[in-house]
Parts: sequence; structure tokens; C-alpha cells
Amino acid sequence: MKLLIHICCAPCFIYPYQVLQEKNYDLFGFFFNPNIHPYQEYIRRLKTLQNWSKDQNIKIIYKDEYLLEEFLRGVVYRENERCLFCYYLRLKATAQIALKGKFDAFTTTLLYSKFQKHEAIAKIGAEIEKECGVVFYYQDFRKGWKEGIMRSKKSGLYRQQYCGCIYSEKERYMPKVNNEQKH
Ligand code: SF4
Repeated sequence: MKLLIHICCAPCFIYPYQVLQEKNYDLFGFFFNPNIHPYQEYIRRLKTLQNWSKDQNIKIIYKDEYLLEEFLRGVVYRENERCLFCYYLRLKATAQIALKGKFDAFTTTLLYSKFQKHEAIAKIGAEIEKECGVVFYYQDFRKGWKEGIMRSKKSGLYRQQYCGCIYSEKERYMPKVNNEQKH
């Protein structure tokens, strides 16, 4: 099977890559993440993947587009629902490349993360399968969570501390202010 895997970042790619490779799939990676902000963070994650995949000799397609304004326009006033838009944007682009490149199926490393909305990703993937006519390959990669972390640390990969968008950066770093302190 010729499979295209959307890659959110190198550390999240390690485990899914290993299990899919063991199945002998003809595997190509696809990097498209306009949700990663600010620009220096985007470049850091991109370079980490480029260096690691070069070392491992992995084929990757890069859609290197820093679409900050487009992303923000898509989520503004519905920030609480932003992850659904974010998943859709990236998975749709993956399906379109899969279609163009005559892949049998597409999938995503987002299915590896314990911090993502796993069921929503599976649902959106299935919807895009119907829209685009290319199979969404579902696998719960979360069982390799610890192993992936261990291996990424061992390889000395840059491991980001927040999901990607500026909202997630705020949630990660801004001190929580309780109600008493607010008044
Ligand atoms: S928190 Fe993560 S998945 Fe959700 S919108 Fe931000 S970057 Fe995308």
C-alpha cells in the first residue's frame, strides 16, 4: 500500500513511522502545518523534521507555507472550536496530495498524540475520505506514546512544549489567575 502520512512534527512521527514501516507500506511523509506560530517556532519544527528524516532516509513532501493570517481568520470568534478547523485544514491538504500522487490512503501523526482530540481527528478523516474519495487510514498510535518520547529524547530531537498555535502557547505558559486575584 502506498500511504501518505501527514506529519505534525518529528517527535510525533517516530512511533507511527516505525509501525507503518514494519507493515512494509510504501510510506511518504507530508509536512503541512500552518497552525505553528510564531515563525521561529515553525522553522525550528520544520528543520528538526528535515534533519531527522534526512538521517533516516525518509521520503517527505513539504508544503512549506506559513499561513498565519489565513489560519487566524479561520478560527477568530470560534477559538474554542479551533482544533476542528486545524485538523480539517491539514487533513484536507493531505488528502488532496494523496489523490494527486495516486496514494492508496492517507493518515496523520495527530493520531499518536495523547493531547489531541483523537475521536474528532478520526471523524474528520472519515469525512474527508468521503469528500475526496481517498481512504483515511485509521490507527490508534497512542499506545506507542512513551516509546516515541523515549526515542525522540534519545535522538536529541527538539521537543516543543506547546501544541502549535498562539492560543495553545498562551494556555501553556500564561500563569493561571484565579477569580480572587482578578478582582
Ligand atoms: S491547539 Fe493545536 S490542534 Fe488546536 S488549533 Fe492550536 S495548533 Fe491546532
